[in-house]
Amino acid sequence: MSMVSHLHQLFDPETCQSYIHTLRWKDRPLQCPRCQSLNVGPWGAYHAQPGLKRYRCKAQGCQRTFNDLTGTLLDGSQRSVMHWMLATFLLCLACSSRRIARELGVHIRTSYRWCWWLRNAALSYEMQRQLEGTVEADDLYHTAGQKGQAKEGGKKALGRRARGRRKKREPGRGHYDKDRPAIIAWVSRQGAVVLQATRDFTVATVQKAADLAVRAGSQLYTDSASSYRALKGYAHDFVNHTQKEYARGDVHENRAECLFSLLKPYLRVFRGVSKCNLPGYVGFFQFLRNFRQQNAFKQAELILRAALDPAIARRARKGEFGTCFDHFDLLQTARN
Ligand SMILES: [Zn+2]
Repeated sequence: MSMVSHLHQLFDPETCQSYIHTLRWKDRPLQCPRCQSLNVGPWGAYHAQPGLKRYRCKAQGCQRTFNDLTGTLLDGSQRSVMHWMLATFLLCLACSSRRIARELGVHIRTSYRWCWWLRNAALSYEMQRQLEGTVEADDLYHTAGQKGQAKEGGKKALGRRARGRRKKREPGRGHYDKDRPAIIAWVSRQGAVVLQATRDFTVATVQKAADLAVRAGSQLYTDSASSYRALKGYAHDFVNHTQKEYARGDVHENRAECLFSLLKPYLRVFRGVSKCNLPGYVGFFQFLRNFRQQNAFKQAELILRAALDPAIARRARKGEFGTCFDHFDLLQTARN
């Protein structure tokens, strides 16, 4: 396959490896990834991967060797760490997995898998986020169907006529089963945001979403949707869009609406997202938003740092950080 971007070939492999080495052990003790023993020592190097350091565990009954990448997301990859660093950087610039495949010269399935893992690793920063103070909320319905291939290969059964991406949508609120799941945005006036993809927009769902995203007792500003008005545990005020009221003094939800105006073009890049992957994409956008003060390289560094943590890597490979709608319920049980 032809390399369109030769950028990564200009990287010095040894510098990259020592960068990864620093990132992995910077604020973690150098310990055996198998028995967690701290009694380890250097154990040579690799000819094929200059700069990759190898260690040996000196604990009784272990005695095994490991290196900087053992147990991380990058472990066992046939591609170099330069590929991974560049892929993470491009991911933070909101590139699609096809674009990343083209720029790196890797197969589309490779880049898709990497993106999926790296997005999950990024979500580890967002799991515990809860807003407080004055929080605005708004909802959006995003058309998302069954994009992608079936498990056994070939096309997925749609179970309906092809929609066509530009088809006029049905009026009213969307629902997961109608291929229009809801996205709820919670925006703190202090700057942090929480975005949740939910199956529907019922009172019970919104209460659950609010309990996770916003600390009880906070001030909520929303529109006049009945699901918000039924919320319990918050000081709540709303504007009435049907009466053309968009702001009443401090009461408005302009920040939440503005966030959606940024989310929509972000999701456009992917040319349709499968509805079961929507929470993952929306969650990664939340990560980008919450770390927006930092440039893409710093954001990529944060993601790589998480990817180099074996505990996070194990969960990211399985997609345990919210790449499915059921996760929404799991998160709640885990927190309670
Ligand atoms: Zn050991």
